[in-house]
Amino acid sequence: MALSKEEKDFLIREISRELDAKPDGAGKNLISKCPFCGKEKKFGVYIGKETSRKKPFMAHCFSCMHSTYTLEQLLESIERPDLAVTPTVDLDAKLDDTLLFPLGEEEEAIDDTLGIIELPDFYQRCFTDNYLRSRGFTYDDFDYFPAGTTRRLNYKFDSYVIFPVIDDGDVVGYVSRHIWTKDEIDRHNAGIRRKGGYRITRFRNSTENDFVKLLYNYDSVIEEETDTVIVVEGVFDVVALTRKLNLYDNNQITVVATFGKKISRAQIYKLQSKGVRTIVLGYDGDAVEAIKKAADEMNPYFDIFIADIEDASKDWEELDFKEIYNIFSERLKTPIEYKLTKLQESK
Ligand SMILES: [Zn+2]
Repeated sequence: MALSKEEKDFLIREISRELDAKPDGAGKNLISKCPFCGKEKKFGVYIGKETSRKKPFMAHCFSCMHSTYTLEQLLESIERPDLAVTPTVDLDAKLDDTLLFPLGEEEEAIDDTLGIIELPDFYQRCFTDNYLRSRGFTYDDFDYFPAGTTRRLNYKFDSYVIFPVIDDGDVVGYVSRHIWTKDEIDRHNAGIRRKGGYRITRFRNSTENDFVKLLYNYDSVIEEETDTVIVVEGVFDVVALTRKLNLYDNNQITVVATFGKKISRAQIYKLQSKGVRTIVLGYDGDAVEAIKKAADEMNPYFDIFIADIEDASKDWEELDFKEIYNIFSERLKTPIEYKLTKLQESK
């Protein structure tokens, strides 16, 4: 059933009115209260272009998981079957089963509830720290990105710097990073049997809330204001990019981290629900497969660009302003351009 542009626009208008829905930032989905379970802002109606996985007017609730796969089913569920523009589909026609599970089997209800957690005992915020200064932290960084230590009063966190993960003003997690290099830690751990002591891990993070539900620097994404979000792997990438591009007080563009080279449905939902339109994916240059995968996963919700870092061995901390400027002015690629470039480079 091919709809003309006028028919599609008409349907989008009428369905928006019926559901009291708002388009998400990229205008690819309408977001509203779910007509099945009543949960606010969890029902999404896809209104973007047809893709292999998505057809216009497919709808899904990320709370009760109810899906509708055709326009007719959607109109039925919002009690507006009168809006159907073309003769009803032939109900005897065999259903294409790729259409029945368009969202993939891994789809699960999005649980974005987070509990408030306690920072480690004796945590105290710092406004200067030798280790963080050695990694380039400036006065502004200490001011914008809370970090602290337990001041040698909590042996489990001796020689760690701790970064609270904040969501809507609440502490919902923390990342703590040992101040030694990987080599120093390995050497220490190898020597424990001879000299005694505790095994050291590079990170000692909170365990209460699953990190797939968290984004670092999420509160810098301001609803209805932030248009573009640069998505990176870790805390140090967020701080380095914010500093080097001077984004501290920029409400249109900001940087968040997904804690690794993957983005979850919950993290996508968190960005979508604040009306973000454009994502610039800034994972490390060597993570080609992970970048392609994350770009595909985000594509139905945002306009995606990939920051193609020329020197794959360097991360945002190591790149200087000129290199970063060059990446953002010359090497932002659409997912298709990125895939073609990588195909060429691998030859
Ligand atoms: Zn629902």
